[in-house]
Amino acid sequence: MAADLARDPRWDLVLDAAVEHRRWWLEQWPNGAEHVLGLLAQDAQEAVHAVEPDWPRCTEGSCPELGRHALFVEPDLGPDPFWVCHRTGLPVAAVGHLHG
Ligand SMILES: [Zn+2]
Repeated sequence: MAADLARDPRWDLVLDAAVEHRRWWLEQWPNGAEHVLGLLAQDAQEAVHAVEPDWPRCTEGSCPELGRHALFVEPDLGPDPFWVCHRTGLPVAAVGHLHG
């Protein structure tokens, strides 16, 4: 997940806050561990969108709006979350592996 934020120091605080919140959440719901990565990605994206509404930009090769819209995390709740292009419906990268 941290890798998706591309080592931009601006996002360190965003990620720290999201991790802190989900740590609390996980204490309330220990069985939710498999959902945490996807939820963290969505938390971080929501926070980043206040500054960069198109993060992370779409890199899905067949997308008609390539580079002009944000990817979204799917599933909303579940294991093995992916960044997905909502225009083509195709997955671009696993959460945590956005940059190769
Ligand atoms: Zn797209």
